[in-house]
Order: sequence, then C-alpha cells, then structure tokens
Amino acid sequence: MLDELERLVDLQQLDSEIAELEAAAAAIPGQIRAMEEQLLHAKAALDEATAETEKLQKLRRQKERDLEEANRELKKRQSRLYEIKTNQEYSAVLKEIDGLKQKVSTLEEEILVFLDQIDAAVKDRAKEEEGFRFKEAEYLRDKQQRGGELREIQGRLAKLQGARKGRSKGVEASLLQQYLRLLKIRAGLAVAPASGGSCEGCHVALTPQLYNEVRRNEEILTCERCGRILYWKG
Ligand SMILES: [Zn+2]
Repeated sequence: MLDELERLVDLQQLDSEIAELEAAAAAIPGQIRAMEEQLLHAKAALDEATAETEKLQKLRRQKERDLEEANRELKKRQSRLYEIKTNQEYSAVLKEIDGLKQKVSTLEEEILVFLDQIDAAVKDRAKEEEGFRFKEAEYLRDKQQRGGELREIQGRLAKLQGARKGRSKGVEASLLQQYLRLLKIRAGLAVAPASGGSCEGCHVALTPQLYNEVRRNEEILTCERCGRILYWKG
C-alpha cells in the first residue's frame, strides 16, 4: 500500500476509536443524572408516605384529645347528677350525658378507623423506604462504577490522542487538511474502504475504472459521490 495512504488509514482508525470513546465518555454524565432522577423520585415517594403517616397520626392525636375532653365532661355531668335538686335540671343534665356518650362512641369509632389507616400508611411507608434504600445503594454503586469507567476511557483517550498526534505528523500538510475537512463534513469518516464495487462510506457504486485503481492501493483516490479517500482492504 502507498505509505501516505496507509498512514491515512491508520489515522482514520485512531480517529474512529477516539470518536467512539469520546461519545461513551460524553454519555456518562447523562446516565448518572438519569439515575439521580430515579433516586429523587423514590425519595419523593418516601417523603410523601412519611407526610401521610404523620398527618394521620396528628389527626388521631387530635381525636384522642377530643375523646379525653368528652370523657372529662361526661364525668363532670355524671357527678353533678347527685347534687341536682329539680327534675327539670336533672333531665337536662341526663340529656347532656346522652349527647356526650354519643360523642365518645363516635370518637372511639373514628380513632379505630384512624388506627387502621395509620397501620396501612406505616406499611406503605416501610415499602417506600425499602425501595428508596435499594435504589440509593444501587445508585451509589453504579455512580462509582461509571466514574471508574470514565477515568478508564479518559486514560485510553489520552494515549490514543498521543498516538494520533504522532501519526498525523507523518501525513503531508495539504493531504492532512483534506483528511480533516472530510472528517468534519462526513460524520467522522474521511477514509473509507471500497468493496463490492462500491464506496463503503456512501454505498454508491464506483465506476469500474476507479474501482480497479482503488484496488491497487497505489494512489490517493476519492469517491466521486462523497469525496472520501478510498482504499482497498483486502
Ligand atoms: Zn462515497
């Protein structure tokens, strides 16, 4: 193979590898953010479940205070019954006692309903907490792993870029310019192999004469359609 062409093929291989690693490195922060978002969702669900449990417990405590108050009032009325002198007053206090008994019974029922609801809410919260702890551990593990991957990729990139720099020095200046321009406008592929009569860069058939010349690998030839530098792999 023509030396100049071989150097370009090598350079292209390095640039393709570099582009692939750069894309992998660039994707990592987004992957970490996506995991973070999942973790925040789990945290929000846990906070909501905690707030629900606390709200129900607060309501239950309020009902219990109401119940204590009603019981106190009830006892007061019941002890007053013995001091009452008139029938009219007696029946009025009895009526109050009935009302308070009814209130006590209603409050007791309401408290029982709250206890059931709190029981369910506590279970629900425990489930959310378990889910959150699991996701948190997973997130910390994955984040560390991704960080390690990123450092490894960066190390490999530094080596490849060093090699690339050395390799590009061996390419004649105007040819290197042509290569770099093609790399930019042709999605990172400036040097393409030809096979089956076509350019593998744009998949368009080459003229038989050009194809035959490319197969010799003896000069710098370009695809008439996409402009990529062509070579024969094999
Ligand atoms: Zn082409």
